[in-house]
Amino acid sequence: MSLVSMRQLLDEAAKGGYGVGAFNVNNMEQIQSIMEAARETKSPVIVQASRGARAYSQDRFLYHLMLAATEIYPEIPTVLHLDHGNSVETCKSAIDMGFTSVMMDGSLMPDGKTPSSFDYNVDATRRVVEMAHEKGITVEGEIGCLGGIEDGHGAGLDGLAHLTDPDQAVEFVEKTGLDALAIAIGTSHGAYKFTSKPTGATLKMDVLIKIHKRLPNVHLVMHGSSSVPKDLQDIINQYGGKLKPTWGVPVEEIQLGIRNGVRKINVDTDNRLAITGAIRKVFAEKPEEFDPRSYIKPAREAMKKVVALRMTQFGQAGHAGDYSPISLAEMAKHYGAQPVLV
Ligand SMILES: [Zn+2]
Repeated sequence: MSLVSMRQLLDEAAKGGYGVGAFNVNNMEQIQSIMEAARETKSPVIVQASRGARAYSQDRFLYHLMLAATEIYPEIPTVLHLDHGNSVETCKSAIDMGFTSVMMDGSLMPDGKTPSSFDYNVDATRRVVEMAHEKGITVEGEIGCLGGIEDGHGAGLDGLAHLTDPDQAVEFVEKTGLDALAIAIGTSHGAYKFTSKPTGATLKMDVLIKIHKRLPNVHLVMHGSSSVPKDLQDIINQYGGKLKPTWGVPVEEIQLGIRNGVRKINVDTDNRLAITGAIRKVFAEKPEEFDPRSYIKPAREAMKKVVALRMTQFGQAGHAGDYSPISLAEMAKHYGAQPVLV
């Protein structure tokens, strides 16, 4: 099976009433962890790479690792998605490289830091939609600004500073014709999302529900949605780490989101925590070890466990075999047959 469009995965998820985790990668082992978890739980998957990941791993390595994944796991519908494209040019370079889905984050200017105007966001996103849909490639856009910074991308604001306005969300979708919409509801990138367990005052699920009511057929995306579980924090601190107490997005809130139109859930921090905890444990318990495999293998296994758990919690488990992939060429025809406006 070759890489498939994200639109197909999300359409199927909407039909089945479940969500699909989108997990970030920088290297071979993280891809292996995700693919093994997908096989074990029979899940369709979205693998995503940020600009930082593309620079770290180099596009060609990343792309060929993903092709290897489709050869080794042919039964798993697999998407390669660009996370937080900062400009039309960045999205174009990902499309040229073989990504099957791109995010144009026009909520920020191309510097990846300065909040942009609504008109700039519409224009940049619309241009990416035209370019991508011609090739059957999916586009995610963002309206409102997420909190925090991820791989150097983000305004570094509090998660509540630029919440998504439901009226603007409707206008944004109508004017851009995108496939999936990332919204700001109080979540932030990174490990330090909330300073205590989030409540309705800090995690605005009411805003999400309002947006879903206005846009019942649009696939919503939750960013910054690691749960940052205490047990993973504890392993790191138990073996010499120094994480400050922190709270993520509880899985029950994500599940509430999934019942209200959320189809893609971005998770990165939980996997980073699992990897780091497993490596620290080996270093602390077996300081004589110097073969990298002795600590990378347990790290890979720890990430796989977290990913498999999330796949089960989001409901995508068991759905890998529900459908056969639609080629990008067919997807392009489908877009061409309809007005872009939804
Ligand atoms: Zn994000």
